[in-house]
Amino acid sequence: VTDWQGKHVTVAGLGVSGVPAAKVLHGLGARVTVVNDGDDARAREQAAELEALGVTVRLGDGDTLPEGAELIVTAPGWKPDKPLFAAAGAAGVPVWGDVELAWRLRKPDAAPWLAVTGTNGKTTTVQMLASILEAAGLRTAAVGNIGVSLLDAVLGEEEYDVLAVELSSYQLHWAPSLRAHSAAVLNLAPDHLDWHGSMEAYAADKGRIYEGNRVACVYNVADKATEDLVREADVEEGCRAIGFTLGTPGPSQLGVVEGILVDRAFVENRHKNAQELAEVSDVTPPAPHNIANALAAAALARAYGVPASAVRDGLRAFTPDAHRIAHVADVDGVAYVDDSKATNTHAAQASLAAYESIVWIAGGLAKGATFDELAAGAAKRLRGAVLIGRDRALIREALARHAPEVPVVDLDRTDTGAMLQAVQEARRLARPGDTVLLAPACASMDMFANYNKRGDAFAQAVRELGA
Ligand code: ADP
Repeated sequence: VTDWQGKHVTVAGLGVSGVPAAKVLHGLGARVTVVNDGDDARAREQAAELEALGVTVRLGDGDTLPEGAELIVTAPGWKPDKPLFAAAGAAGVPVWGDVELAWRLRKPDAAPWLAVTGTNGKTTTVQMLASILEAAGLRTAAVGNIGVSLLDAVLGEEEYDVLAVELSSYQLHWAPSLRAHSAAVLNLAPDHLDWHGSMEAYAADKGRIYEGNRVACVYNVADKATEDLVREADVEEGCRAIGFTLGTPGPSQLGVVEGILVDRAFVENRHKNAQELAEVSDVTPPAPHNIANALAAAALARAYGVPASAVRDGLRAFTPDAHRIAHVADVDGVAYVDDSKATNTHAAQASLAAYESIVWIAGGLAKGATFDELAAGAAKRLRGAVLIGRDRALIREALARHAPEVPVVDLDRTDTGAMLQAVQEARRLARPGDTVLLAPACASMDMFANYNKRGDAFAQAVRELGA
């Protein structure tokens, strides 16, 4: 679309993606109608702001296709099986997500995208990538499903050489024409299955990130499903498959040899076989899953032509975001670690693997997940478990099946004081040298506004223990 004048566009959903999308489209001359399911105070406030500009807003009905709609721009979280999309399909109205809109609106000579998806590690990897690109003197930003919105990045004043773009499976689902310079799928494990409908559909949406890649499709050697997605993708001629591994890298791979991150895929002239990138100790925290994130970031940066020295400098300059394996405090010889961002079993598995003797605080909204593998894998490391949240029975039952001797405290409360009690119970179970690990393996919204608030409540509770 180049001519937006008078075009009837329906924006589905207010909020962080809908409000800016409506403003931008209105500014381009489109006739914008926003539809939204809820009509709470926040929605009314946002509606009033848009209406003042001349945008039509319909609150409390997100399922009826507005008369004359020619295009829907949807919030990424809206489920594909919503009646609105069935109506759009029947009427032949295309549906774009926020990423598709940004992709279509970018300037012709715009910065290429280095894109990252995966079940876990996206934010960390994109931030590492931006840090590496910055260390190479490039103008860049970490954008997408993280901090800066893609729309702001492609339409704003600031000029970029290249963008480090985090994409969720939802965003990819709604971004059919996106074509990245290079892209990585970090890993693939069941998550958000209630949204996508099946593991196959989830994987297919993640795999869209490789479509049309020009230089490199980066995959995880240890996660065959990611390699399969590369094989299935339709890419530009000359685009290469590049693997990353925690072991010794094969040809066209980056990996680890004796504590050194090495590149065998993008070797600069004077090196015959491999190029040293950085030490494992340059990565914070140096947990195995995080070394994998660093290798993926390095692979994308190298695909863009960044020198090896910038990888080292960029990784050294990187500090992780809050609530990602964050050490909160030591109390009576027990370490308290906040990995509230472990919102699914795959993430929780990675953090449980990083400690020897653990009192595990877990539970929340399971999003359709099962916990058998997680419980079986963690059994030997668990001193005990404290379960919170709506779906905690699923974890309790999995522990009973696979770790029957592990003591479990089941907290049947979801009020704001529950986290304090959980931490107190964890303290009772812990012995000196243990780690009390908040790695819920579940989403937080049954008890908290988001995972940040859950992690904050944990840290607050730990501080009260120490006081
Ligand atoms: P995302 O943006 O994909 O949610 P984050 O970088 O925010 O990923 O990390 C989320 C959580 O996932 C972390 O708290 C950690 O528990 C876990 N994690 C990070 N990287 C990986 C990885 N490569 N594999 C498995 N788990 C990971």
